[in-house]
Amino acid sequence: MGIITEFTRIKKSCLKYLICLHIVFFLCCPDYSDADSWKAGAASRVITPEESSWMVGYGAGKPSAGKIHDLYVKAFAIEDPDGTKAVIVTADLIGLTKEFSNDIALEVTKRFNLPRETILFNTSHTHCGPGISNPFKTLPDEYAKKLETYVPWLKNRYIDVIGESLHNLEPVDISFSSVKPVPFAVSRRYPTPEGIAYRSSPSSYYTGGPRDDIVPVLRAIDSDGAVKAIVFGYSCHPITLNIDKFCGDYPGYAQRYIEEYYPGSVALFVQGCGGELVPNARFQLEYAMGHGKALADAVKKALDGKQIPVTGQLRCAYGEAALELQHVPDKNELEDNLNSDDTFIRNKSAYLLKQIENNGKIDTTYPCPLQAMHIGNDLLLVGIGGETVAGYSEKIKTKYSSNQFVWVAGYCNEVFAYLPTLKILKEGGYEGERAMTYFTIPSPFAETVEMRVLDGVHTLVGKISE
Ligand SMILES: [Zn+2]
Repeated sequence: MGIITEFTRIKKSCLKYLICLHIVFFLCCPDYSDADSWKAGAASRVITPEESSWMVGYGAGKPSAGKIHDLYVKAFAIEDPDGTKAVIVTADLIGLTKEFSNDIALEVTKRFNLPRETILFNTSHTHCGPGISNPFKTLPDEYAKKLETYVPWLKNRYIDVIGESLHNLEPVDISFSSVKPVPFAVSRRYPTPEGIAYRSSPSSYYTGGPRDDIVPVLRAIDSDGAVKAIVFGYSCHPITLNIDKFCGDYPGYAQRYIEEYYPGSVALFVQGCGGELVPNARFQLEYAMGHGKALADAVKKALDGKQIPVTGQLRCAYGEAALELQHVPDKNELEDNLNSDDTFIRNKSAYLLKQIENNGKIDTTYPCPLQAMHIGNDLLLVGIGGETVAGYSEKIKTKYSSNQFVWVAGYCNEVFAYLPTLKILKEGGYEGERAMTYFTIPSPFAETVEMRVLDGVHTLVGKISE
């Protein structure tokens, strides 16, 4: 055997050996590639106005006087093994307008290539936050002017935080769990033989249903076991406080406690369907802290318990349900209303007359944003716009919970008005009709409202379940 032949033989056997080694390594060792792992990234930004701003919620009618603690916008980005991404964005704000969320979504699509259905905005609905719009032009000039600076700045904060959460995407284990805390949400709609009554004292609120006391928790941990992000929800109006200082109310405190429990993590609060639900103890800072602590402890309990791993694909859908109105006033009626003794009626009439002037008509329906996300095979997240009442959560969970965990969030993408169920609409009261005075929509919704919303959700769930 010549030297060259011998060399070739040795080379061939070495090659075989190397191939065998590689196969053994491949079979025995874990796959360190990212091919089948989910990724997540989180980020947060302070959004507390640097100057005194006009308060909405209970502080409405006066400017802010300092802060209890900072307000935040936070983003949780996820990516499934196929590379499909989505981002859940939460904020300590009372609500967003359609224009605001759409502007940000457009920019996010342009910069980061995320389609609209993969971007979910939710606000905690804290009543101790700044307003971001002035639809009736009723703010004093000084504060209306401040909005012209604050709102574009806030939009940039949203875009920055979304960008950073996407930049922070890394392989993680994502899992979810849920827990029932000691509930502090009670209904302010008290049924009596004479109809719905509103009790002024928290101790006399109605503790019956519908309610949604389950706290859902979505968690991402990295390969070292460090908790990167915790997304959690609860359904209750953050109106523990009625002060003129910026504060996240109970969701703000819950997020702070959770971030203390899990140092280095970002905790994001998602408001649920708490339209008619209010805290059972109110008007003292200690109560806001106490509710926040109860919620944070519930989240910790959920995280100490059994986790369901997120596996499979991420699928998202977005749509709008056209909600009919009970009554669309004409120009004559609106002009008559300009003489009303009620300031709110006068303001709204002027607003609607302007709409006729600009668009030639008043829209006869209102487009309610709806969103659905399958985060893996076992978790369905449904996001509904408006001040969604608890009945929606109950109905959607009943319909879709047979083979998956269902998380229903209200206050998503836009807070345009209360979104009553048919029952609440028929009963009337604040959430059914009276509150509509304070929103830009001309009249309460027609009796088709619940059907339109549930049909819309059904279409989206169908789309992502195909
Ligand atoms: Zn509200």
